[in-house]
Formats: sequence, C-alpha cells, structure tokens
Amino acid sequence: IKSIAILTSGGDAPGMNPAIRAAGKVALSKGIDLYGIKRGYLGMLNDEIFRMDGRDLSGIIDRGGTTLLTARCPEFKDPKIRAIAAENLKKRGIEGLVVIGGDGSFHGADLLFKEHGIKVVGIPGTIDNDIIGTDYTIGFDTCLNTILDAITKIRDTATSHERTILVEVMGRDAGDLALYATLAGGGDGLMIPEQENPIDVLAYQIAQRRKNGKLHDIVLVAEGVGSAIEIAEELKKKVHTDIRPVVLAHIQRGGNPSGFDRILATKMGAKAVEILDAGKSGVMIGMEGNKLVTHPISHAWEGERRLSQEDYDLALTLSK
Ligand code: ATP
Repeated sequence: IKSIAILTSGGDAPGMNPAIRAAGKVALSKGIDLYGIKRGYLGMLNDEIFRMDGRDLSGIIDRGGTTLLTARCPEFKDPKIRAIAAENLKKRGIEGLVVIGGDGSFHGADLLFKEHGIKVVGIPGTIDNDIIGTDYTIGFDTCLNTILDAITKIRDTATSHERTILVEVMGRDAGDLALYATLAGGGDGLMIPEQENPIDVLAYQIAQRRKNGKLHDIVLVAEGVGSAIEIAEELKKKVHTDIRPVVLAHIQRGGNPSGFDRILATKMGAKAVEILDAGKSGVMIGMEGNKLVTHPISHAWEGERRLSQEDYDLALTLSK
C-alpha cells in the first residue's frame, strides 16, 4: 500500500495516542505516505486531512485523549456524505484507513470499503469495553484505574461519615467498568445493565451490613441502569443510612494511558498497518486470550456480547 490515513472517532479513550503513534511509525518505517485526519469522519468530510511525519508522533505515547481530536458526525450515515468524504481521500491517493473508535466508527469504515474501495482496519478504542471481538478495548484499563482511585478516596469519607455512596460510572450498555471496579475496588454492591438490579435486595443487604457493624457501603452503578442520583432517592425510601450519589462523569475519560493500554494500543496500531500493507481490508483487530486476533469488521455489531457470568457471580459473593 502506498498511502494511509489514521483517524480517531466516537468517544475519546486513553491509549488512542499510542495507537496513532505505533500505526504511524510502522507506516513510516515501511515507506508508506502517512496522513492524519482531524475530528474523525467530520474532518474527513470537511477535508481536515494533513500529511503526518515523525514529529506528529513524538511525545504522545503517554498523553491521554487523542491528538487527532474526535467528533461525532451523524451525517456520515448518508451515502452522499460518505461519497464526498471518500473523494477527499482519493484525491490525495489515500488507499487505506486506520479507524480507532467504537462499533459505530467501524460501521462507517465498513461502508467506506464497500462503497468506495477504501481499505479499512478497525482498532477498538473506547473506555466502556463494549466491543465484540476483543477481550479488552483500548482505554478500559486506564479508566478502571481512574475509578479505583476515586473509590479509594470515596471510601475514606464514606467510612468516616458512615455513609452509603452510590458511584455512577460509564457504561450505557456494558457493565464491565462497574463489574471490574467492584471486584478490584472491594465494592459492596453493583448495578449493571446486563442483569436485574432489585433495589429491595440492595436495601436489605445494606441494612444487614449495618447490623453486622460495617460502617459504609460503596455501590457501583453503571450509567445504563439509571442515574445514581435518582437511584439514591429510591434507596432512601427503603433503608435508613446516609446515602449519597457520586457521578464520576468525564474524569473517567482522561488521564495518561496505563502500561496495559499503551501496550495493547501499540500492538494493535502496528498490526493495523501490517494488515493494510498485506492488501487486506474490512477487518477489526482484537485481543483474545492474550493474543492479537482479527475478525471481519462486522463482527463488532453482528457477534454476541456476553459479560462473564462467573465474574458477576463472584462480585456478588464478595460484595454481600
Ligand atoms: P463510542 O463507543 O465511544 O461511542 P462509537 O464509534 O461507537 O464510539 P458512535 O458515535 O456510535 O461512536 O460513532 C462514531 C461515528 O461513526 C458517528 O458519529 C458517525 O460519523 C459514524 N457512524 C456511526 N454509525 C454509523 C453508521 N451506521 N453508518 C455510517 N457511519 C456511522
């Protein structure tokens, strides 16, 4: 392949930069012309496409967010709009595209390949860990650690004041962040979209813990279940502890990528360019069983996603 472009799209995630760096460096090392696209598909449409060289890749491995910026571009669902965007690539001779983002971003990439022959590879980048075809997405580990930091601080004040704190974390459809924060942070309860979350059971458990002398509770709530503020109001009617909601919100998106995320991003970024250079297209990269794998890009929305029931059951056992 002679020329490729990289973009980041959808929600930002720590580790997108090391993915850009690795993909870019491997491309340059192979003598491939390298382009960056600002603001994802919006920038492709608006022709915000620039030649990248080594300087654009240096000093970014440890930076959170994405130096290429990201945006949503709902118009990209319109084939006429995609044709304009594809033309902006073609007029520069760009033959391949590395898309770092979620399954929505992969959808856009799939259509660019099918309609306009642009060779595409998807790299799963999102804090939610909600992409089918990979055990981990880039950004999940860093985000999990950010939540764990917050839990440590919240626990100090929760104990001192003998409070129940509901910690709302990201995850509209996926409970991974809440589940693994419960396991790693010693949470006392969790509510995730994949499961029933009876509030009476939670209220009963909190009351029992107080009877047994426990001074505080930290309950993880995935945003997909509902607002922690509203759930706290409901819970107040059922149990008489001092209940406070804490919404972690956007701090979960930021921060320097963890070592795990940097390595994951670096391997995936490098692999993406090798795939394009081998003339392949329409694939997503995943990490399964600690090995890099590829799937047809449509696997990201056609495959079946399952949260580990075993891990959920363990979290319930340990949080009683
Ligand atoms: P995250 O999981 O972080 O939200 P995502 O990639 O799933 O990431 P989306 O907002 O769903 O985020 O998608 C990002 C962009 O991809 C959209 O703004 C749009 O430009 C493009 N896109 C999404 N779905 C489609 C689709 N069905 N067809 C064409 N383009 C799409």
